Amino acid sequence: MTTTTSKISTISPFQQRSLDAVWHPCTQMKQHETFPLVPIVRGKGVWLYDADDNGYLDAIGSWWVNLFGHTHPVINAAIKDQLDKIEHVMLAGFTHEPVIALSERLKAITPGNLGHCFYASDGASATEIALKMSFHYWQLAGKSDKTHFVSLQNDYHGETLGALSVTDVAIFKKTYAPLLRPCTHVMTPDWRYANAGQSAESHALRAAAALEEHLAEHHAKTAALIIEPLIQGAMGMGMYHPVYLKRAREICDRYQVHLIADEIAVGFGRTGTMFACEQAEITPDFLCLAKGLSGGYLPLSVVLTTDTVYQGFYHDQSAHAFLHSHTHTGNALACRAALAVLDIFEQDNILETNQIKAKYLNDAATGLLSHPKVVNFRNCGMIWAFEVETKDLQFSHKFFQAGLKQRLLLRPLGNTVYFMPPYIITEEEIDLLVKGTLHILNTL
Ligand SMILES: *Cc1c(COP(=O)(O)O)cnc(C)c1O
Repeated sequence: MTTTTSKISTISPFQQRSLDAVWHPCTQMKQHETFPLVPIVRGKGVWLYDADDNGYLDAIGSWWVNLFGHTHPVINAAIKDQLDKIEHVMLAGFTHEPVIALSERLKAITPGNLGHCFYASDGASATEIALKMSFHYWQLAGKSDKTHFVSLQNDYHGETLGALSVTDVAIFKKTYAPLLRPCTHVMTPDWRYANAGQSAESHALRAAAALEEHLAEHHAKTAALIIEPLIQGAMGMGMYHPVYLKRAREICDRYQVHLIADEIAVGFGRTGTMFACEQAEITPDFLCLAKGLSGGYLPLSVVLTTDTVYQGFYHDQSAHAFLHSHTHTGNALACRAALAVLDIFEQDNILETNQIKAKYLNDAATGLLSHPKVVNFRNCGMIWAFEVETKDLQFSHKFFQAGLKQRLLLRPLGNTVYFMPPYIITEEEIDLLVKGTLHILNTL
């Protein structure tokens, strides 16, 4: 029996099979009665190709994961090589070269003394691991009252129940509120919330003062502050001044509260530095990475932590061990993909060439910046965002559809349009992206 009735005849058998059997994420499935799925059969560079060989410029890196385009020769070759050696072995009691090499390299390139790598498969799981480790550390240290977490207003940390508890995005959270743990969300440093005439920096300092006020009173019960460094992605690419991170680190130290940096979206060069925390010269107690870690190829995430935290669990008694068992922890194929990603960063001087690309895009985008419908045009590293003045509740959906007609993959968050292109985007492709976006704005 078919559960989906197709109201338009343009749905191909391929699309219909998907509607009949696949429950797509973040989607009201009924909308696909009128908006067909895009069937992708192959990808190359920034381009995704559908069944009729139309190319779509993947301007949002396939949900923020793709760093170096699709079917990159270096990553492809690494995975193929690994495939003939060992694809996967359980990581409890076993180890292998890709997971060792990746951990060593992450230890070398991340800030400060982060050096113990705990792996999982997705971002939300990394959040869960960091929260559990922080809580467990304090339990073992005799601070059994530290059972609460603090995050920022508008933060997003994933959608499993623990991660959703520390998330503050109503659309994802509202329905499940009865299942969640209470969490305090302190004032966001996002400069869009600054008072009139207030600078981004002074707003960030005001938000830091609010954090201090909260922790001064509640630190004895607080295990950790979890934040998205520099950019609050899911709530519309809110950007903030690095001074907030500096202050947050000082405040957490002062009150013996862990700082968890969720760099799942911003890690690996998105903000211009390899990791966002570098811009404030801080080291978190836990660093969560996923998305770009494997170049967007394979599900892989990791939590890095300090020697201090690691030693807290290091004990004769097995009850002191950190028990969190992901079946695919440290998957060899995914680790090899991640190693290839780090090779590309080094060999192709990605952070430097990104600066040139970012400048090129900013120069090309002056027409967007000055467009009468555009407000808050902003850029940080390889992320651009702006709000479009509209009252249309269907804006995001209509913009996405109009984008496909321009051969662009853009998927606004509410009325926030953003670009998060693969780093291999060329100047010609940047021109196409800007021109297409302007055309949509002028015709929507
Ligand atoms: C995407 C994201 C997550 C969740 O990652 P998943 O792999 O989707 O579970 C967590 N935190 C941030 C900041 C993210 O952008």
